[in-house]
Amino acid sequence: MINRLNKVLIFTLLISFLSPSLLAAESEALTLRVCVLKDVNTISVTVKGAYRIEALRTGELLKKGKDLNDASVLPTTAGLIVAGEPFNIFGIKIVPSGDASIYIDKRAFRGNMDIIRTEKKRLLAVNHINIEDYLKGVLFHEVSHWWPVEVLKAQAIAARTYAVYRMSVCTDKDFDLTSDIYSQVYGGKGSERGRTNKAVNLTRGKVLTYKGEIFPAYYHATCAGHTEDASNLWSIDLPPLKGVKCSFCKLSPHYRWKRKISIAEAQKRLSAAGYNVNGLKGIKPSGKTSSGRIKDIDIISNKKLSMAANDFRLLMDPNLIRSTNFNVKRKRDYFYFEGRGWGHGVGMCQWGAFLLAVRRYKAEHILKFYYPKTRIGRI
Ligand SMILES: [Zn+2]
Repeated sequence: MINRLNKVLIFTLLISFLSPSLLAAESEALTLRVCVLKDVNTISVTVKGAYRIEALRTGELLKKGKDLNDASVLPTTAGLIVAGEPFNIFGIKIVPSGDASIYIDKRAFRGNMDIIRTEKKRLLAVNHINIEDYLKGVLFHEVSHWWPVEVLKAQAIAARTYAVYRMSVCTDKDFDLTSDIYSQVYGGKGSERGRTNKAVNLTRGKVLTYKGEIFPAYYHATCAGHTEDASNLWSIDLPPLKGVKCSFCKLSPHYRWKRKISIAEAQKRLSAAGYNVNGLKGIKPSGKTSSGRIKDIDIISNKKLSMAANDFRLLMDPNLIRSTNFNVKRKRDYFYFEGRGWGHGVGMCQWGAFLLAVRRYKAEHILKFYYPKTRIGRI
């Protein structure tokens, strides 16, 4: 982690010596690699406008033209079939001209698109996109675009910081981010809205730093009282992510939740993840973290098993078990959960940030509250 963060520090320092006009250019030049589809057998590609398709790595021109309509890309043993033509290569880059958009399975994206054949003969689509355009496709999914502009700006800065952090630690991987809840939800061009685009433009190039370094600026929907210390979940021990008391998210619709899951379903999900829990009888919280969330879960079946509460939540379904702050009771064939908050609880509480913005706090103050000891810098 330290080595990786040092790389970012060097990167941040290098850029801080550049002139303001070059800074804007640097932000424009930062290209993220976002995985928008993975592990599929076929991908439909449409391009509205002029385009060219190159072989990955060599850059050899394979095809060019205008208006590609619903062309299929399929993996073969030797390589790929693109619009009916076989190629002896492991990947292609689709490059649209000017403002032309690429549609991948009917979803529109800006930037270029790589389609890669994996070792398992499946396909991966990776969108290469300018960071500012990427954020415009993220904000709509992470917060309501009708919220006050200061909370939208705070969200843009946090999401930009997180994206730059991922870029710095994923240099040896096929992509920096996925487009789902495990990174930041990204919907491409179709997710852009006027108010969220404005928040991205108003914060162009701005990121959070701690001691001059980029850090993973996590965020979540609702903390329900206290944000979590990241070190309780992951091997990240940083002063901005130690957790703060938050009394601002009480209006959140996610402040309290109730869910149930059948014992059979819980057993099925645990077994699918490799846990042998035949004869599942009970689920018992064990220990509390510094923020009051459950630390571990004891699973009572034919044998006793213990796992981190966060792992349990992800295994069950993070949209069903909304946080690790819950009570659970068994009644007949079901486990009944009653909990508070939504998300892992680390970093900015989005519903708390919303109320702060309603109370006329500026984005900078909202961010400094949820990420103490940080400063706003520029990439
Ligand atoms: Zn909160």
